[in-house]
Amino acid sequence: MFDLLIRNATLPDGRSGIDIGVRNGRIAAVEPGIAAEAGEVIDAAGQLVSPPFVDPHFHMDATLSLGLPRMNVSGTLLEGIALWGELRPTLTHEALVERAMRYCDLAVSKGLLAIRSHVDVSDPRLVTAEAMLDVRERVAPYIDLQLVAFPQDGYYRGPDAEAALTRALDMGVDIVGGIPHFERTMADGARSVEALCRIAAERGLMVDMHCDESDDPLSRHVESLAAETVRFGLQGRVTGSHLTSMHSMDNYYVSKLIPLMAEADLRVIPNPLINMMLQGRHDSYPKRRGLTRIPQLMEAGLTVGFGQDCVLDPWYSMGTGDLLDVAHMAMHATQMGSGADKRALFDAVTVNSAKIMGLDGYGLEVGCNADMVILQAKDPAEAIRLRPHRLKVIRRGKLLAEIAPEVSRLSLDGRPARVDPADYAPRHAS
Ligand SMILES: [Zn+2]
Repeated sequence: MFDLLIRNATLPDGRSGIDIGVRNGRIAAVEPGIAAEAGEVIDAAGQLVSPPFVDPHFHMDATLSLGLPRMNVSGTLLEGIALWGELRPTLTHEALVERAMRYCDLAVSKGLLAIRSHVDVSDPRLVTAEAMLDVRERVAPYIDLQLVAFPQDGYYRGPDAEAALTRALDMGVDIVGGIPHFERTMADGARSVEALCRIAAERGLMVDMHCDESDDPLSRHVESLAAETVRFGLQGRVTGSHLTSMHSMDNYYVSKLIPLMAEADLRVIPNPLINMMLQGRHDSYPKRRGLTRIPQLMEAGLTVGFGQDCVLDPWYSMGTGDLLDVAHMAMHATQMGSGADKRALFDAVTVNSAKIMGLDGYGLEVGCNADMVILQAKDPAEAIRLRPHRLKVIRRGKLLAEIAPEVSRLSLDGRPARVDPADYAPRHAS
């Protein structure tokens, strides 16, 4: 007897005709043709059933603030940082919580059930950290929210940032952040990496830094981050977010750098939507794409997870809460178009990011949490192509969100009466 039985699922690994039995909020069976009774039965009708989407790089304190106090006219990173600086003194606990909670509603509807959010700790009032800790508690029944203490204005460059970061960690913020490329000098950046890794080692915390988010081919902070990770014995617990300067680095140098990153088991989080928008701003033509070396990093065995970074905030006027939009952009920007490539991109918005966040019980194996999403698509490649409806979003065996399938009715003489976009899947895709 199961609490919930999902029939006829296709799994991301390609197995089809699979039933998933759920008992006490956990997956109790994954096999074809389960005969047992169940309190509730859902027919997946051969559609893809995936573990939930995971966003390992977000800014929950800034989301949905687009237009406050004005729009980012140039669309650059620096105008975005300046705009956020104007908005920051006016932020209140209530408004921050309200926006974040509203965003989380959207996230759940998209099957996004785990988020790592950076929290700006540059303002010594720490109203952002207080509000996000409140949100973490409120959404805990349905979203795993991790918080990173992020010194947006620089750890050494921002006044009061050192003390504020320490206080945010004391308040319960989970992870140590940084922004070495924004410090005044390359030397200060390297010093900040050392200091922040030391804090993480002393407190037993993970590290996730905005790192080398520039087009500067001579930026060297990811090298420092890898070296300090090894020096402090933090292998597997440190993440470099963005790493866009790697796109412009000399190939010879990168041939030394990537093995250093692998030695440190550095986790990598590219943010394809925002970086396609922000990078290459000083280029005329040819114009660089400004995304880190995703295929090379994956090939070297590094764990690569994709983040959204921003939704409707001073840096990015787009965003939908849908990690499949991120994978879709990554597919184009990296030209990773083969079947195997698309599987790897799907992993980058699901299992890889779950590993980066260290989520327990994530996955579709027996014993995992009964957290899953039924998509109106046949397989991961089709999910990236269609960015389809999330038909059911389930957590711990309970339905959190659902939507009717997208089906258009047609009135065309001699043509079919209905169109289901998922029916257009290629027959021999791989
Ligand atoms: Zn960010």
